[in-house]
Amino acid sequence: MNGSERLYQAILENISDGVYFCDRDKRVTYWNRGAERITGYSAEQLRGSSCSDGILMHVDDRGAALCNKGCPLSGTLADGLPRETQAYLHHRSGHRIPVLLRTSAIIGPGGEVEGVVETFTDNSDLVAALRRVDELSTQTETDPLTGIGNRRSMEVKLDASLNECCRLGGTAGVLFVDIDHFKKVNDTYGHEVGDRVLKMVAETLKHNIRVSDDVARWGGEEFLALLHRIGKKSLAASAEKLRMLVASSFLEIDGVRLHVTISLGATLVKPEDTAQTLVARADELLYKSKSEGRNRYTLAA
Ligand code: GH3
Ligand code: MG
Ligand code: MG
Repeated sequence: MNGSERLYQAILENISDGVYFCDRDKRVTYWNRGAERITGYSAEQLRGSSCSDGILMHVDDRGAALCNKGCPLSGTLADGLPRETQAYLHHRSGHRIPVLLRTSAIIGPGGEVEGVVETFTDNSDLVAALRRVDELSTQTETDPLTGIGNRRSMEVKLDASLNECCRLGGTAGVLFVDIDHFKKVNDTYGHEVGDRVLKMVAETLKHNIRVSDDVARWGGEEFLALLHRIGKKSLAASAEKLRMLVASSFLEIDGVRLHVTISLGATLVKPEDTAQTLVARADELLYKSKSEGRNRYTLAA
């Protein structure tokens, strides 16, 4: 065992959650001390046994055996997706323990599911605290008005993407988006309608980029989209598609359709880019779109 393996082993052994690994045949290959404490079964008793041997006998809150229907372990083995399930385990002393089970796939080098790691805890305070941490971290990354990512979340993604482009020779592009004459919308219809327009534009951007791409509210009426693994032609096509979709969206205000347009600056990541040079270039290109009449994109690689 090398240094980092020993570290992981020590962490796994010392956390209070139960952690176990199952191989593709659903045989337990690892069972930590947390799992021993929660269930009363030792690693020696569990190792090598199959989840379907009926030792733990997971049941749901209506008493239905998960082994027969809805086994999260089998589900994750089949599709590689993580699951979170409220269930009850059988304790060695006979009683039932409520647990929150989390299953995640262990993916092999070829992308195949090699097994599943399952964690479980009987400590509902801890579950609640962890959920709260999750919620808070989502909150710190979300723009409260539009529900898409905020500038901070995009800065983190830009750094990660630049890193990937440098190290692995990947490609990426950004679209700097600014709503045209937005001040006039506020002045004419009021701030609240302005907010609805911001939400409408954010939704249009979010739903019309690939799921693997990212978009965030960069500032007042400005958005930044980060498109991964993309070339010049596709970046231009994305910019034009988003421009057209926003231009053809509208809000109904007292029976009148309110349209807005956007201007965009589009550029590909260069190997020497920092987040700052990349965004500054996109911003300059956006400015060009504005000065040339708005409701258009300007692209330079
Ligand atoms: P341009 O076409 O040159 O971009 O003109 P513009 O009017 O869109 O640009 P300007 O920068 O002059 O105005 C942006 C306006 O966006 C001003 C500000 O009050 C408004 N704004 C910023 N954040 C919000 C917000 O959260 N809600 C609303 N309703 N308005 C906002
Ligand atoms: Mg602006
Ligand atoms: Mg504007």
